[in-house]
Amino acid sequence: MAGRINDEDIALVRERARIDEVVSSYLTLRRSGGGSMVGLCPFHDEKTPSFQVTPARGLFYCFGCGEGGDVISFLQKINNLTFTEAVQQLADRVGVQLRISDDGQHTSSGPSRIRILEANQAAHEFFVSQLAGAEGLSGRQFLAGRGFDRTAAEHFGVGYAPTSGRALKQHLNGRGFSDAELVRAGLIREAGYDFFQGRVLWPIKDSGRAVLGFGARKLFDDDRIPAKYINTPETVVYKKSQVLYGLDLARQNIGRKSQAVVVEGYTDVMAAHVAGVDTAVASCGTAFGDEHARLLQRLMGNHDVFNGEVIFTFDGDQAGQNAAIKVFNGDQNFITQTYVAVEPTGLDPCDLRMQHGDAAVRELVARRIPLYQFVMANVLAQHDLDRGDGRLAALRQAAPLVGSIRDTSLVNQYLRELASMLGMDIEEVRREVSRSSRRRIPGRPDPVRTLDPAPDDVLSATTLPWPDPADRQLDAERSTLKLMLQHPTLFDQEWDGVVAEDFSHPAYRAVFAAISQVPWRPDRWTDGVRDATPDETARQLQIALLVESLPGEPDETYATAYASRLRLIAVTANIRDLKGRLQRTNPVEHRPEYDAMFGRLLDLEMRRKQLQLAVAGNE
Ligand code: ZN
Repeated sequence: MAGRINDEDIALVRERARIDEVVSSYLTLRRSGGGSMVGLCPFHDEKTPSFQVTPARGLFYCFGCGEGGDVISFLQKINNLTFTEAVQQLADRVGVQLRISDDGQHTSSGPSRIRILEANQAAHEFFVSQLAGAEGLSGRQFLAGRGFDRTAAEHFGVGYAPTSGRALKQHLNGRGFSDAELVRAGLIREAGYDFFQGRVLWPIKDSGRAVLGFGARKLFDDDRIPAKYINTPETVVYKKSQVLYGLDLARQNIGRKSQAVVVEGYTDVMAAHVAGVDTAVASCGTAFGDEHARLLQRLMGNHDVFNGEVIFTFDGDQAGQNAAIKVFNGDQNFITQTYVAVEPTGLDPCDLRMQHGDAAVRELVARRIPLYQFVMANVLAQHDLDRGDGRLAALRQAAPLVGSIRDTSLVNQYLRELASMLGMDIEEVRREVSRSSRRRIPGRPDPVRTLDPAPDDVLSATTLPWPDPADRQLDAERSTLKLMLQHPTLFDQEWDGVVAEDFSHPAYRAVFAAISQVPWRPDRWTDGVRDATPDETARQLQIALLVESLPGEPDETYATAYASRLRLIAVTANIRDLKGRLQRTNPVEHRPEYDAMFGRLLDLEMRRKQLQLAVAGNE
């Protein structure tokens, strides 16, 4: 990662940028109890405000959808920015001059991100003018051959890179950009030649319409680069796992319709938009991955699995099937809102529009089917369902797919559909599915076998389960952590004897692990704990716990009572386990073990009495 911002500068930005002020430019906040403010969440649809901002802690948290963070992450989420971009925006707002180091190695004036965006913008304008010029004829012919006229080319900002090899460099040098800047922007190569030569280009923008990079298609047979498509290399502003072509045009429609259509190429995005499918985007030079999925979810404005649709237009061929399976193995929350639109004749949206017109593209999208159905049908197609052993083999392979669905309300529906596809009894199918589920690690979907695994596998989405805040059994764990995070100084340095094993829920245990790892110092406390929390769920949970109100006025007695109560529950559970083990152990045959366990039981019982007294005395 290039371009690391100086930590002190980040801290200064955090300190100066008031979260309530920043949030207030996006939604209306009103005062509520305890110095907090509430408003309607910008990240999910709601009628009663559950979006809370606590200015004193510089944090926000939505009790409806679970979004939360500090002023930087708020800006990232609402404007879909990278961390660096958000810090830059805030720095401008509060007047902090950022020092950016190169790869964190040494501080230097570094590549100015703004400078790179300016260079990209200037390059974009140059390419557009070249498409209209004499040499751009091949580019114009390419576009016309795919059904796009001049208006369409202008609307999508399509450009042309001349073949000369130095045209862009000379043009931009003349505009005051140095070679070093152009190399950093990915516009020229180290040797001083234009990165793109003799190609038709599409500008890849962020949702705020800044040009991040380009995608380029080969036009000439004698092109020295054989690849049909090439993209801007990874730069400070261009990260292929995070950019989507068409986002600038589709962003508002995606939010308004809670729908996004993912197509495969630049001309497919163009065809879709021209045909009236104005929510179309495409990943650029890489497979659609988890980061893309999260980006679309944010733009759809909610994290509710029953809201919003992401529709993929995959080919019916092997590559399309593998792409579908990759999506299936990605973010679980994504699956239930994921659909596939497959054109039976295998035409992509661009060809479809040329051969059958705009309406055919809209119909393709309207004919979507749920992703799991597509994946399932492909699995079943590999077996001879006319034979008993074929049906059984198909069931064995399909069962883990149904078993990996976490949304239990959908499982029955899927079971019925699978049973009917196989022509089998639903109970038989149910038994196989639960058998296959038991073979899996709980909460973690089994990887579905990909027939031809692609090298750049999407990240596996394994994350901690989110604890139910209303779960009475976990109340002591939640309350103690809230107190520890909000009032760490009320505890002694050993956290009043609390240990990680006292937490039964893995997410709570992860939050405590971070707490106990950070040096016990009241300054920089919140930041320190956040930095020590690697898991995203735990980080979100930690923010929720920082913002949630406490019952009653916190003091040291209160802290001791909470810690004691938590320990008491854990000790009681230990005693129960140990008693069970003692009952199962033969005291004659296993004398030494039995005695050791018995001694431990007595210790625990004594500990339990002390804790009971501590809890009673402090309540
Ligand atoms: Zn929300």
